[in-house]
Amino acid sequence: MANVQVAVRVRPLSKRETKEGGRIIVEVDDKVAKIRNVKVDSRPESFGDTREKVVAFGFDYCYWSVNPEDPHYASQEVVFRDLGTEVLSGAAKGYNICLFAYGQTGSGKTYTMLGTPASVGLTPRICEGLFIREDDCASQPCSRSIKVSFLEIYNERVRDLLKQSNQNKSYTLRVREHPEMGPYVQGLSQHVVTNYQQVIQLLEAGIANRITAATHVHEASSRSHAIFTIHCTQAILQNNLPSETASKINLVDLAGSERADPSYCKDRITEGANINKSLVTLGIVISTLAQNSQVFSSCQSLSSAASSGGDSGVPSTTSGASSGGGPARRQSYIPYRDSVLTWLLKESLGGNSKTIMVATVSPAHTSYSETMSTMRYASNAK
Ligand code: ADP
Ligand code: MG
Repeated sequence: MANVQVAVRVRPLSKRETKEGGRIIVEVDDKVAKIRNVKVDSRPESFGDTREKVVAFGFDYCYWSVNPEDPHYASQEVVFRDLGTEVLSGAAKGYNICLFAYGQTGSGKTYTMLGTPASVGLTPRICEGLFIREDDCASQPCSRSIKVSFLEIYNERVRDLLKQSNQNKSYTLRVREHPEMGPYVQGLSQHVVTNYQQVIQLLEAGIANRITAATHVHEASSRSHAIFTIHCTQAILQNNLPSETASKINLVDLAGSERADPSYCKDRITEGANINKSLVTLGIVISTLAQNSQVFSSCQSLSSAASSGGDSGVPSTTSGASSGGGPARRQSYIPYRDSVLTWLLKESLGGNSKTIMVATVSPAHTSYSETMSTMRYASNAK
């Protein structure tokens, strides 16, 4: 698996979009998503001619979840089979993982990450998968400990969604940086779990906490980022010597990306600017990491070509990556600290980690600009 993977998922037309005569302007074909913009030429001499513009974007996965009757319909199960199993196998190998859902409010981020009681999403399925593996573990000389935490970032401040106290409505937790362990939230509660049921109870408690603190259901989820983190520690006996691997799985439901447009929040300047800052910084961090890993793999293939002693005639000094002259220069500065979101996830983005982004979009023509902006953001992450 590459270090950064990007998927796009198209949800069904909503009741409102259907009522308003929403036309479907997105289509997917294997790993390509196309978006159509039909413009009616209103000049009298054109007799209402239409002009069509189609833009195509390539991704690692494209999920068509528009019509359940369609043979290509991507169910929650299909999405889990691709992305959820990558998360589980990466974590089992000791990688830190970040799985993000990015998109405008109402595009299907929460549906993809959590799902509904009738149609369970990625987070509960990943938790279930962890405990299935736990049972496998029983036959081997290994022991595992799993802890979870759940927090929300709003306006660059952090709140514990699993703290049972009177102060749990306030965003007051501080982010600090440990010299070896990296950034962490001071005082964030961690909960040991030993079975699936316990994780689900915590997940539900956190979601309820998110909702009751807001005046509307949508307020909480459209303005804040929620991070559910699973910390796994695995101790195994290798040749009678104990060894330990630790990994973190971060499952992130991001704030609505429409907030990334500053004009959307004229009356909430700071809030809009802060959401904008986190999403923009996240985009920069992920695309820098993706570029760096491409440079890394091209360096590897160059050096293996050289060491194979073949007559390829590629002198090592012509490598764009090492001479720094080519477009694929490895960038060492990654602006993690520009937002609380990226700072907190620093140890899970880059280095020994894997990132998956699911960009969720509406298929309707009425969301054309938001969908274009989501597709651009997602394709920049590659
Ligand atoms: P967001 O979290 O991005 O604001 P939601 O996940 O709440 O959006 O989705 C908005 C609505 O669309 C919900 O009613 C949800 O059940 C529905 N929905 C979203 N994605 C899908 C999908 N892939 N299949 C079926 N329904 C979906
Ligand atoms: Mg949501």
